[in-house]
Amino acid sequence: MSAANYQQYDQIAVIGLNHPPLNSLGHELRIAIDALLQKGQDDPSIKAIIVMSQLDVFCAGADIREFGLPAAAMEPNLRTLIEHFEVSKKPVIAAIQGICAGGGLELAMAAHYRVAQSNTEFAFPEVKLGLLPGAGGTQKLPRAIGVESAIKLMINGNFVKGSELANTNLIDCIVDGNFLAKSIEFAKSIIIEHKPLKRLRDMQLAHIDFSIELAYFLKPYYKNAAHYPAPIAIIDSVKDAITESYEIGLQHERERFIELSNTSTSRALRHAFFAPRACQKIPGISATTPKKKINSVGIIGAGTMGTGIAINFLNANIKTIILDQLPTALDASLEKINKYYQDSVKKLRLTTSQIENSLGNLKTSSRYEDLRDVDLVIEAAYEDLELKKSIFKILDQVTSKDTILATNTSTLDINEIAACVSQPEQVVGLHFFSPANIMKLLEVVRANSTSDTVIATAFSLAKQIGKLPVLSGVCDGFIGNRMLEHYGRMARILVEEGALPWDVDKALEEWGMGMGPFRVFDLVGNDVAWAVRKRRYIEKPHIRYGKVADEICLLGRFGQKTNKGWYHYEIGSRDPVPDPEVEKIIIAYRKEHGISPRDFTAEDIVKRCIFALINEGARILEEGIALRASDIDVVYLTGYGFPRFRGGPMKYADELGLGNVIDELNTLYQESGDPFWRPAKILEEYAAAGKSLN
Ligand code: NAD
Repeated sequence: MSAANYQQYDQIAVIGLNHPPLNSLGHELRIAIDALLQKGQDDPSIKAIIVMSQLDVFCAGADIREFGLPAAAMEPNLRTLIEHFEVSKKPVIAAIQGICAGGGLELAMAAHYRVAQSNTEFAFPEVKLGLLPGAGGTQKLPRAIGVESAIKLMINGNFVKGSELANTNLIDCIVDGNFLAKSIEFAKSIIIEHKPLKRLRDMQLAHIDFSIELAYFLKPYYKNAAHYPAPIAIIDSVKDAITESYEIGLQHERERFIELSNTSTSRALRHAFFAPRACQKIPGISATTPKKKINSVGIIGAGTMGTGIAINFLNANIKTIILDQLPTALDASLEKINKYYQDSVKKLRLTTSQIENSLGNLKTSSRYEDLRDVDLVIEAAYEDLELKKSIFKILDQVTSKDTILATNTSTLDINEIAACVSQPEQVVGLHFFSPANIMKLLEVVRANSTSDTVIATAFSLAKQIGKLPVLSGVCDGFIGNRMLEHYGRMARILVEEGALPWDVDKALEEWGMGMGPFRVFDLVGNDVAWAVRKRRYIEKPHIRYGKVADEICLLGRFGQKTNKGWYHYEIGSRDPVPDPEVEKIIIAYRKEHGISPRDFTAEDIVKRCIFALINEGARILEEGIALRASDIDVVYLTGYGFPRFRGGPMKYADELGLGNVIDELNTLYQESGDPFWRPAKILEEYAAAGKSLN
């Protein structure tokens, strides 16, 4: 089957793009379009050529799998194809429906005329990969829709509906109804009326005073604008479109495209784009692996997590029973769910009938027998192994053999939990992140006994409820929290040794982290990490923890919930204010323990915290807890506010070069004597073999 086909209707040739799923402009499709365009040129009976799609989508853009490969440049490359459209002696009409994005939009803008359905979605998403439209997009879009609208569209990378662009040079005619027939009608009118061969590239943009404020455009989109060079390059290219000839503008755009594609930001953003797709591939599991249909869910524990988890299922129209031992907990949970839905009406995200529907699927209970018929149970009771084991023993008695039994534990050994039931293959970890109805990340934790069906079901269900699932093996803290423990540990040690919490937060936030660690501790509650540390002091007494944190907790400074933690919070405010009291506590602690404080630069701070993530992440990879380095990156990008422009901790390590990472780790080891800093074996192996983690 060819990637495009050709039909003749009287004097009109219709080239139908047929390269599923999205007509991405890989080499095969480019060859097909070019050949059929030539066929239309060569046939004297043809007076106009329509390019449209045989699929629901006109064209989603370049084939990014070809990115950086010789295939992308192979003739006809996109720029050549565009030129062939532009020099055509016969009018070329792009008939656009569904999605028209990136290279697809550049191709459409090379046509002499464009008709589109009103609900067609147009976008230049290149900026999300740290790039700019590199085949004339920055030069033609301002001519098509105006300078300001073009900059906005290219900088935010989001879709805009055809109906919003109807009165611009981008769309000559909105055609709804029988699309083929109406497009042909339009082409006939061009022939009959002898309309000229209009080219966007020939349009002159008015020489306006180009005083566009960068900040005005950049501010709404990027907190870390300085780390994202693409938006600025887009604006510079649009300036060229106004002040330079089309040819010079095109040449500069090309140069900028090449420059951008070689930046670490673009490499990181492309990695962040592909990594979530890669993590859906699990060895041994395929589309044919049997899956269980989940029509009903039981949730044990009506606390913070149980309530948030329930909302996900209610939103997906799945029957949900929340079970708790305390009637007061059930009442509080119901109240929170009702409030969530009331707020949803207010924010106009859900209609009243949708809400009634969702709430109609909700039941509460305090009797395990009520979970007899559910397809899946998710336990979210207190973090206590013996308690969880006792709950699973009851579930083993009351639920059916093929009920999937999941736990939301953050740290506990799921193999031990699975050993309590008669069908251990049905047990899995579903580790949601707080707030569970908002955070997209879901760690699916595979115990030794978990069946393929259960894993396949968990992945499919995750997508159904709008989550991004990542597979983890069993270990304390799984992928995300196991790494976080060392990141947090290093942050507290920094404070013990000379930094202040706000110095640490500032350094990491400026580096790009969504929120510094001490702000996170205060948000989550310092008592949570304290409880873990108390356990660690017994289990792993050799590990050094910054015990100044215990002093903070002993004073009841648990964070935002007590209005005091590492910071001070005014009542009702979530804004952290550096607190002289905390500084006093830290100074007193240092004196008491004979620690003479040293100066840490922002770079020292970032190094210790981020290298802690890298080294522990590498161990997680080495142990097979994560299937691949990019899975670890997905966890950190999705669940822990790691900056996308750095691609995740493992990608960042690759960018630094593993040899350099090892040198830094060895220096940290020599400085501190902490065996944690010994480079993970896998780093040494990969560096020696000249391999990267990703
Ligand atoms: P929580 O204290 O808010 O709620 C726990 C609920 O479980 C309480 O309502 C309690 O009454 C109920 N419960 C306890 N024992 C029970 C039993 N035997 N039968 C029925 N109900 C029982 O706790 P949480 O923060 O929602 O955490 C729950 C689980 O989720 C823990 O395992 C925790 O580690 C994990 N987790 C928490 C977070 C978080 O940020 N809070 C994130 C991920 C995972």
